[in-house]
Amino acid sequence: MIAEVIIDSSVKTLNRIFDYEIPVDMEVKVGARVFVPFGNKKSLEEGIVVNIKENSEYKVKPIASLQKEQIAEEYINLAKWMASRYFCNIADCLRLMLPPGRTSKNISNRVKEKTVNFITLAKDVEETQQDIEAGKIKSEKQKNILEFIINNGNATVQDIELFTDASSSIVKTLIKNGYLETNNVQVERNPFLHKAVVKTVDLDLTDEQETAYNSIQNSGKYLLHGITGSGKTEIYLRLIGKMLKQNKTSIMLVPEISLTPQTVDRFISRFGEEQIAVLHSKLSIGERYDQWNKIKTGEAKIVIGARSAIFCPAQNLGLIIIDEEHDESYQSEMAPRYDAREVAEYLAENKNIPLVLGSATPDMNSFYKTQNGDYKLLSLTKRANNSSLPTVEIVDLRQELSSGNKSMISRKLKEEIEKNLERKKQTILYLNRRGFSTFVMCRDCGYTVKCKRCDITLTYHKYQHKLKCHYCGYEQNELTECPECKSKNIKYFGAGTQKLEDEIKAMFPDATTIRMDVDTVSKKNSHEQILNKFKDENIDILIGTQMVVKGHHFPNVTLVGVIAADGSLNIGDFRANEKTFQILTQVAGRAGREKDEGRVIIQTYNPDNYAIEFSKSQDYNLFYNTEIDIRKQLKYPPFCDIIVMDMSAKNIAELQAVAKKIHAYLKKRVIDEKFGLLLYSPVPSPIDKIKDRFRMRIIIKCKYDERIKNLLNDSLNEFYKMKTTTARVAVELNPNNML
Ligand code: ADP
Ligand code: ZN
Ligand code: ZN
Repeated sequence: MIAEVIIDSSVKTLNRIFDYEIPVDMEVKVGARVFVPFGNKKSLEEGIVVNIKENSEYKVKPIASLQKEQIAEEYINLAKWMASRYFCNIADCLRLMLPPGRTSKNISNRVKEKTVNFITLAKDVEETQQDIEAGKIKSEKQKNILEFIINNGNATVQDIELFTDASSSIVKTLIKNGYLETNNVQVERNPFLHKAVVKTVDLDLTDEQETAYNSIQNSGKYLLHGITGSGKTEIYLRLIGKMLKQNKTSIMLVPEISLTPQTVDRFISRFGEEQIAVLHSKLSIGERYDQWNKIKTGEAKIVIGARSAIFCPAQNLGLIIIDEEHDESYQSEMAPRYDAREVAEYLAENKNIPLVLGSATPDMNSFYKTQNGDYKLLSLTKRANNSSLPTVEIVDLRQELSSGNKSMISRKLKEEIEKNLERKKQTILYLNRRGFSTFVMCRDCGYTVKCKRCDITLTYHKYQHKLKCHYCGYEQNELTECPECKSKNIKYFGAGTQKLEDEIKAMFPDATTIRMDVDTVSKKNSHEQILNKFKDENIDILIGTQMVVKGHHFPNVTLVGVIAADGSLNIGDFRANEKTFQILTQVAGRAGREKDEGRVIIQTYNPDNYAIEFSKSQDYNLFYNTEIDIRKQLKYPPFCDIIVMDMSAKNIAELQAVAKKIHAYLKKRVIDEKFGLLLYSPVPSPIDKIKDRFRMRIIIKCKYDERIKNLLNDSLNEFYKMKTTTARVAVELNPNNML
C-alpha cells in the first residue's frame, strides 16, 4: 500500500504530496504522523499521511517510522476542505491541528518558569521563509529553530531547546544575524488559571433564557441574539454543564481581546479549573503545549480560546459556542485565511453536534441565515438582572460648530462629564477610529464624497491629492469646496486619542485620566492592565479606541461618550454601516450595567444616518431590515460574494506586470466561458504600501461556486508560472477587513 504524505515544513516548495510505501509490518492510517527519508537529506523529515492508495506511478521509498501521535482522520478532511475553500496549502492548514511545538516527545519535566522572555522572529514570516528557501541559512539547526518559531510564534529559549534539540548558543547566533529577537517581557505562567475563585451555582433562568436553552437540541445551528447583559453567558454555562453530564467536551470561542481572566473566571467558578483549558496567544509555547495536552488526554472538557482553538483535539466533542460571533477576529488575516465560524460549521455538521453563535449585534450574514432557515434564531430581548438599557442621546456636531464650539467635546457631553465627576462616577470616551484611512468631510453639512458606482466613501490619498474608491478605482481631485453647500470648511479625518486626552486635561484639570490605544498598549502594558487600573483605581475618565468596547464589566461606569461616530462610517468598506451600528451598540452596552442608569452621548456629523439613528434605540431588527434591502439592491453579501485577489511586490513594475497578467487571464476566461461575474481592473490597495511592499488588488463580485473556485485556482497557477522574484498573490473570499 502507498501513503500520500505531506512534508511538514514551512518551506513552500515542499508543499506537495509525496508517495511513500507502507512497510508490511506498519499500521498506517490517514492522519498518521510519520518520519520519511527525503531527497538527499541525511536526516528524516516529519510528515502527515493524508491519503492511502493501492499503487503509485513513481518509484517510492518506504516510510521510516511512525509516531505515536496522530491527527484524527476527520481533521485531515477538514484540512483538505480548508485548502480548497481558502486557496491555501494543506500543510498550512494541518499545522493548525498539530500540538504546539509539533512534538510527540515526552517533555513533561520541562522547567515551569514563573516568568519568561519570548523569542520571536525579527523579520516577517514570509521574508524569513524566502531566506530559508534561497539557502541563506546554511545550518540545519538554525533552520529548525526558525521553522519552529514560524510555526509556533512565541517561545522561550528553554522551549526552543526542548522542542528542537538546539542549544541556546544557536539562538544567540540567529539573534546576532538579525533573524530572531528577544522580547524582554515578563509573563506570568498562565495568568488565567491557578486562582481561587468563589464557587457559583446555576441561576434560575428567566423565561426567555429558558425558552432559548430548551430550543437547543443535540444538533443544529443556532444564532442566539441577545442584547448586552441579557444572559447569553448564563445559557452557555448551562449548555456546557449539560455536556459535562454526558461526558462530552465543549469548545467556546471568544474574541482574543475578550479572553480575559474575568471571562475565564465565570467558567472556573462554575465548573472548577481542573477540567478547563484556555488557549490564547499570550501563552508561551510550553504553556500552550500543556493546555493542548490537557485537551488531548480528555482531562479538559471545556476549552475556552481564541480563533485557532477551534482546531484543538477535543475528545468526544459535543458542543461549539462562538461568543460575539460578529467579531472580526474570527477571520484569520494570515495564511491560511480561514474563518473560524465556517470551520465550526463544518465540524458541527460533520460531527452532528450543535453550534451556538451568540451576539447582541449579529453579523448581517449570520442573521440572514436565520431568515433562510440555515440557523435557528433564539432571541433574548431583556436584560437578565433587570438593569435597564442606557439612554442614548445624539449630538449634532454641525450645530456645535455653527455655534462656535471648535473643540472635540460638545457642550452636552461636557455637561454630562461634569455631572459624572461630581457624583464620583466613571466615564468612558470612545474615539471611533478604524484602520489608517483618512476621509474628507464638509464640517458644515456633513457631506462626504462617495463613489457613484460602489456607494463607498472615497479615501484621501495625501501625496497624490486625490480621492479614490477602494473597490473600482474611480478617482477624483481633492475637494476645496463642498459640492452640496459650497462651504470651504473641508476637513480630513483621522484625529487621534492623544489630542483628545490633551483637550480633556485642559477642560477638567482635576480629573484623572487614562488612555488606551495602540500607542499605550504595548506588550508591557497590556490592555488588560490598563482596564484593571481604570477599574481598581477608580480613574475618572478612560479614553480609548475600539479596544475599550469589549470584554470588561465596569460597575461604576455610567457615562459613555462617542467622540465622532463618523469614523467607522467612512472606512471605504460596504460594511461601514454594519460596523458602525455594532460598535455603537457595543460601546453603549458598557454604560450602566448595574443599578445606576447609564447614559450615552453619541457625537456625529451625520445624525440622520440610519446606523447612528437606530443605535439610539439599539434596535437591531430595525437596522437589519434597512441594511439588508440596501445589500440586496447593491449586490453585496449575503446576496453576492466579494473576492479579493491581493497582490504585492517590492518593485512596482513587477507588481504591475503580475496584476496585468492575472487580470488579462481572468478577463479572457470570463468572456470566453461566459462567467456571470463582475471583474474589476487592478487598483492600488487602500493601504498601497506596507513595509516596503507595494500592494494592488483585483476585486470580483460574484456568486461563489465550484466553477469560480477553479477559475481562481487556475489564475493562481498562472501566477506561479511567471518568473517573479518578490511578488505574492493571495485570494480572499469575503474578507472582513477590506484594507
Ligand atoms: P450577556 O452574556 O448576554 O452579556 P450575562 O450572561 O453576562 O449577559 O448576564 C448579565 C448579568 O445578568 C450578569 O451579571 C449575570 O450574572 C446576570 N444574569 C444572567 N442570567 C441571570 C438570571 N437568570 N438570573 C439572574 N441574573 C442573571
Ligand atoms: Zn457642505
Ligand atoms: Zn467605486
